[in-house]
Amino acid sequence: MGQASKNARTSSTTQKFFCSCGGEIRMKTLFESGKFKNIAECEKCKRTERRPSDFK
Ligand SMILES: [Zn+2]
Repeated sequence: MGQASKNARTSSTTQKFFCSCGGEIRMKTLFESGKFKNIAECEKCKRTERRPSDFK
């Protein structure tokens, strides 16, 4: 019965991304041509990319 207690650590899926300028990437939802579209925007230089990973 010596079962080790499980580590109930909540694995967060929230990941932070940063632009090359050092600004933080925020996800935005745009409504474009009849559908919602998620884009990533740097809050500092306002650069937008389709995915947060594209800022690398
Ligand atoms: Zn930036």
